[in-house]
Order: sequence, then structure tokens, then C-alpha cells
Amino acid sequence: MGDSPDIFGDEPEHDDGPSAAELEAAGQSSMFGEAPAPVAAPPVAAPPAPPKAAPAQPYRVLARKYRPQTFSSLIGQDAMVQTLANAIRRERLAHAFLMTGVRGVGKTSTARLIAKALNCVGRDGQGGPTIDPCGVCEPCVAIAEGRHIDVIEMDAASHTGVDDVREIIEAVRYAAVSARYKIYIIDEVHMLSRNAFNALLKTLEEPPAHVKFLFATTEVDKLPVTVLSRCQRFDLRRIPAELLASHFDGICRAESVSADAEALALIAAAAEGSVRDGLSILDQAIAHADLAGAGEATHVTAAQVRDMLGLADKTMQRTLFAALLGGDGAALLDAVAQQFALGVEPIAMVRAAMDLTYRITVGQIGKGVEAVSPDEAATLAEWGQRLSPGQLHRLWQLLLKAHDEVKSAPEPLAAAQMALLRCLHAADLPDPGTLAKKLEEIAARGPAVAAETGAPAGAAAPAPSIAMDWEELVLRVGHRHVLIEQVLRDWVRVIELRPGFLRFAFAGNYTMHTAKDIAAAIEDVTGHEWKLEQDGSGGRPTLREEAEAKKAAEAEALRRSPLVEAAFAAFPQAEFIADTDNVRAVGERNWR
Ligand SMILES: [Zn+2]
Repeated sequence: MGDSPDIFGDEPEHDDGPSAAELEAAGQSSMFGEAPAPVAAPPVAAPPAPPKAAPAQPYRVLARKYRPQTFSSLIGQDAMVQTLANAIRRERLAHAFLMTGVRGVGKTSTARLIAKALNCVGRDGQGGPTIDPCGVCEPCVAIAEGRHIDVIEMDAASHTGVDDVREIIEAVRYAAVSARYKIYIIDEVHMLSRNAFNALLKTLEEPPAHVKFLFATTEVDKLPVTVLSRCQRFDLRRIPAELLASHFDGICRAESVSADAEALALIAAAAEGSVRDGLSILDQAIAHADLAGAGEATHVTAAQVRDMLGLADKTMQRTLFAALLGGDGAALLDAVAQQFALGVEPIAMVRAAMDLTYRITVGQIGKGVEAVSPDEAATLAEWGQRLSPGQLHRLWQLLLKAHDEVKSAPEPLAAAQMALLRCLHAADLPDPGTLAKKLEEIAARGPAVAAETGAPAGAAAPAPSIAMDWEELVLRVGHRHVLIEQVLRDWVRVIELRPGFLRFAFAGNYTMHTAKDIAAAIEDVTGHEWKLEQDGSGGRPTLREEAEAKKAAEAEALRRSPLVEAAFAAFPQAEFIADTDNVRAVGERNWR
């Protein structure tokens, strides 16, 4: 295989490989990829202070420098290590192992540790496979330095073809040169082509006893079942933030760097369970701190990390959201202006508010997304206690609508301001359930609302006594003369009314009936004579006009009641419907 450097010679990790210059400086051929680890690589758990006087050494990123060299220094994967230890002790080792997990949790590190565990011969050269490889025997050292001739690493991301696999299969036939096992580590194995998998499968079905395959993948779903079924699988967990933070603390000490506990917590949260991602952030943070320190002892502050991770933006987003919830319009507009000045798009502000709403809501039912910082965690928890689920869902609807508006608005900034202010005005409303119930109560009370709000029931209503005489009289006429009753209700404006005497005017140019027709009907139902006088104009509104005016006034009063105003603030597209017997607001589709 020595003549196939293009296959096995590549740096197996795409994200933090050493540069050619780095390799050269380290005096290492790129044949087997890895830059050499320091001869006595410190275990991460208790890293001794590195020699200070080594300025000539090329800088190595922390993730590489502190790659775990023992299983005990592989953090967060205790369950896997235990299983593996049992398998080694009982000599029940599979021919193929599969390491799954998100990037940077230690899949490749685990593969190399397994390679060591299987090939370690111990200090005395007599040892067998062990979960605790000695780290000093020739195989251990060679594997740690990435130069063991029987441990072959291949990155499937760049070698996906069947030809690449065929080379492996060819090489598999030959016994290990200098070790117990010939070990193939194939990273990102899901990237292999179908043909490559098929070629590999034949070997996996009947692997020679001296061969072990160690596969690593971030996307286990993409592996054929035929391959999966032939592997002992280890699912590597995301590493909890607290564990990451204490790990980073140890590394800082080893690097003679001091760091705020808060800073490390922020980095651990941002790493999302990946040691490697976390360490590359820590690398940057130390570089920032070095620059800021200008020769002083390096100290990583929480503020630096916050800036670096864009968490300052997160803080501003929470300020905006707090103003929105607190009903402080001026503070809200300030927060918008501040973010806009820093180049934040208006739509991104709405999205950030949506994100917070989402996080608070799922947090309320105990399914919170991990907060990006302790600050955020505390604030989200507090909001979660204060806000009802109904309020949050309504806020989500409002923000969703705001998002659409801002997206299509010719002036996104103005649209964002308006939409966020609308959310603000609606933010302290009762939730839709309570709102609907109150509206129902009001509807049930009906006309009382008008009195409650002090609105007049009709502009030119007749004095109650006349109105009641008159209404009674009209009702009596209706018992026998339905048509005349209708005429009286719709067209007769009373000017003067007393027993036996009615002066009136017709509304409009009514001509179908005369005063004589009306007098006859009234006389018929009252049993005595009536004197009717007709004027050309004047008089109180007809009964119909009165009823209409009253209804309009009631509707208007309702429309202006704080509750309905609130409903309209919450549902700007709601339609207000007032009918004779009922007043109800019909909301948008999302109403309840
Ligand atoms: Zn060893």
C-alpha cells in the first residue's frame, strides 16, 4: 500500500488539518496525514503545563494538541468506553466498528484509541489488547503519531469511488506488517459510493482474522443496512455543556491562560456538544485575548467571547423583546434603531423575536433548546413564568404576520417598526380564550354596554313616556292592522301625542296611506274617536329610525370598548359584526 499515498495519505480530518508548511516544519511526510503528537502527549484530564520556552514550535490548534490519547481522557463517552472495555476483556471483538455522532464529539479519536487498544503490546512488549493502552510501546507511539504502517486512515469524503475501496481489499489479503491487527479507519464512511460499499461488503462478510474496520460517520442514516448489520455500533453523545466547560478550563490552565468561568460557559454552550468546535472557539478567544492583552498575561473575558460569538447581538435582541413585552414603545423603537445602525436587517429583528417566542414556548413544556448563554437561559426562564401559553401563541401569530409584512414592504424598516409596535400593543392582552369569553359576556348583557359606556341610545329619542305610549299604541294597532302598524313604525314621526289626539309628519314623501287610514285603524283598536293632524315636517324619529340609531350607537359603543379595541389590535383583520340580538367579533382563521 506504500505506493498508494493518494488514498491513504490524506489528512483524514478536513477541518483542522495541518498546513503543508506545518507538516514540513514538523519534519513529517504527509504520507499518513497526521502531524506528530508530542512524544509525551499530555493526557487531557490532567494536562501538565507545557514547556514555555518552545517558541520555535509551530502553533498547533488546541483540538489537535489535546486530542485524547487515552480512553480516560475521552470526555463524555463513558458508556461507549465501558462497552468497549467489556468487549476487549471478553475477547469478543467485532470485525467492524461504527462510530456515529455529530462532528467533533470524538469519533476519529475513538477510532485511533481503539487502534491503540487493539495493537498495544505494553511496556514489556508482551501485552495483549487492552482498554488502557500503555502509550509508550512502539505501536502506541506510532499510532499516536499517525505513522503506524498497519493502521490506515482513509477519508471517504475525498475517496468515494470503487477503485479506492478496491485498493483496500487488495491490501487486506496481506497480513499485518508489524502489528497484531491491520486496522482500516474510514472516516465519513457514508460518502462511499454504492459500488464502493458493495465492494467493501464482500470483505466485511468474511474479513481475515487480522483485519479490523473502524468506520466513523456523521450521517448513519445513509449507510446501507448490509453494512450496518456487520458493525458493532457506538453512538457517541453530544458532550454536556458543563463537562465541556470544565474540560476547557483544564486546557486553559495547561496553556497558562486564565479565563472567566462565564466565558468558558459561553464557549461550551456555543459548541453544541462538540469538543472540537468548542476548542476552535477557544483558540480564537485566546487569540483575541492575546491581542487585547498586549503583552500582559492572557485573560479571556466573558465580554470578549460574547462579542466574538455575536452574543452581543443576542443581548440586543432580548432588549428589543423585553421592550415589546413591557409595552415600552420608545424603548422598542430605540432597540430597533440601534440594531439597524449596526446593520441588522429589519426582517432579522422580527425573526429573532420569533426565535425567542419559540424558545420560551417550548421551554415552558420542558423541551427547551439549549440556551446560548447563562444570561439567555435565565431570561427565557423568567419570561416563561410570566407569559401564558395563549399569549405566546398569539405573539407568534402576530410576529409571523409581521414577518410577512416586513418581507414584502417597500420600506422594511418602517414596516418592522409598525408591526412590532402592533405586537407591543397586543402583548399585554388576555389570551384569546379569555378574550372570547369576555366578549360572550358582553354580548349576553347586550344593551347594557351602551349605558355602561355612557353612549346615548339615540340622538333625538322621544321622551320615554311618549315613546312608550306611542310604542304601545302601535303594537295594539298591529293586532288587527298589520300593514298600518308597519306604516306607523316606518313612516310616522310623532310631533304631539295625547289620548284622542295625534299630530305627526310622514318621513320622506310617504303617500300610500293617509291620516284618515291611520285614524280609522287607531279608532278601531282603541274604541274611541281620534283627531289626527298631519304636518309637513318635524317630529321625533320614527320607531324604525329610533331602533336603527340605537343599534348603531350600541355597536359603536361596543366597538370603542377597550376589550374590542384590544381584540382589533390583536387581530387587525378581524371583522366587526353587530346584529340585532348579538354582538360578536369574528376573528381571523386563527381565532381560537
Ligand atoms: Zn502500548
